[in-house]
Amino acid sequence: MSNASIRYGARIRKMNAAVKREKQALYKCEVCGKMSVKRISTSIWRCRHCNTTYAGGAYSMTTTAGEAAKSLVQSLSRQ
Ligand SMILES: [Zn+2]
Repeated sequence: MSNASIRYGARIRKMNAAVKREKQALYKCEVCGKMSVKRISTSIWRCRHCNTTYAGGAYSMTTTAGEAAKSLVQSLSRQ
């Protein structure tokens, strides 16, 4: 195995880990304001608190609120 393919394999594992983390992440609900929106199936997200259903990206919320929530989660996890 060449050095190039070793680096490529490491990058793929890192990407898979990031996707897995996003699929499990909770996002802020625009209706009730709680961090309770969870992916329930491909492109479908639901708030566990008020049952509002959102159509979003396959692996992460693509709305402005979703992006804001994601950056909040990332900043919290860095602390
Ligand atoms: Zn809600």
